[in-house]
Amino acid sequence: MYDYLIVGSGLYGAVFAHEAKKAGKSVLVIEKRNNIGGNVYTEKIEDINVHKYGAHIFHTNNKKVWKYVTQFAEFNRFTNSPVANYNGEIYSLPFNMYTFNKMWGVVTPEEAAAKIEEQRKEIKDKPRNLEEQAISLVGRDIYEKLIKGYTEKQWGRSCTELPAFIINRLPVRFTFDNNYFNALYQGIPIGGYTEMVENMLDGIEVRLGVDYLENKNELDNCAEKVVYTGAIDAYFNYRLGALEYRSVRFETEVLDIPNFQGNAAVNYTDKDTPWTRIIEHKWFEFGKQSKTVISREYSSEWKLGDEPYYPVNDEKNNALYSEYKKLAAAEKNVIFGGRLGEYKYYDMDAVIASSLIMSEKELKA
Ligand code: UDP
Repeated sequence: MYDYLIVGSGLYGAVFAHEAKKAGKSVLVIEKRNNIGGNVYTEKIEDINVHKYGAHIFHTNNKKVWKYVTQFAEFNRFTNSPVANYNGEIYSLPFNMYTFNKMWGVVTPEEAAAKIEEQRKEIKDKPRNLEEQAISLVGRDIYEKLIKGYTEKQWGRSCTELPAFIINRLPVRFTFDNNYFNALYQGIPIGGYTEMVENMLDGIEVRLGVDYLENKNELDNCAEKVVYTGAIDAYFNYRLGALEYRSVRFETEVLDIPNFQGNAAVNYTDKDTPWTRIIEHKWFEFGKQSKTVISREYSSEWKLGDEPYYPVNDEKNNALYSEYKKLAAAEKNVIFGGRLGEYKYYDMDAVIASSLIMSEKELKA
């Protein structure tokens, strides 16, 4: 009999497992896939760490989280500075003086601010959706060229139907600064995320290729408590209806050239290019390999059998989630956590923070 059965070996599960073991508990981690790490999993191809489930750039303002992760890996100096490609026109991201200069030819922060001020006037009331929020932040020109197409491809919904908060993660700056994140700490774990998660799970029993929901009764009987990091609606067999998720598909190619696009991430912000972005993995680690590996990323609506990636946190889904949350609260021996367990568009640092808070609470006795 284990103290904890942890379902899922992504960051939430791995952090909880590590903390539980440290507290002297017996732990079993089970994982549906044949590898650990959840969506931060990296796999070596041509000596390049390929971010198998999409680009993961660690960034945080939370010193506690930073100290925590750096126990398990050393981080390099990678700074995320994606480039936007709008029908062949190249712009800097996030929105900053380089972007404004390219868009309007403005040179000073004052000129840029005046341009945005003039364009944001069209939004008179408090923004009600992503479109209005974007225009009120950066004006219509940037909205049309750098936000609308990308966002609608990524979410498969009109910007007028999406919640405003999604865009708030993107800074707007009147300085020449292409750092995508406003984070004090940022980088990629040297050696890859898989190795980092392996270190978190050091000395812990992990069984791969085990589907919890298919063997629930039997598995529940082997532990006092369960930490479940899968999709909350799947846990309840979609009893109240399915929550909506976005899924992502990658077309990965090895190219016999050293440099395809000169940057880790290029976002295709027009509506006609079918992919949302192309990742060139070697640049996360300043690779010097003679070949390169690229992944085109396509977004799609999740359907049964697909991997869920992003919760769609609009009103309708949030309301359904709160109903599931009530059911979850009644499962006394189960802790629901992580992006899928809590149906929340968490970044990696927030998942770690949330797992640390939960493990402190749970293990303090
Ligand atoms: N976004 C955008 N244009 C871009 C990049 C991002 O409009 O070139 C907006 C868009 O609304 C998107 C959100 O920012 O849904 C978050 O995008 P990001 O690529 O940061 O999300 P991730 O997939 O990395 O979590």
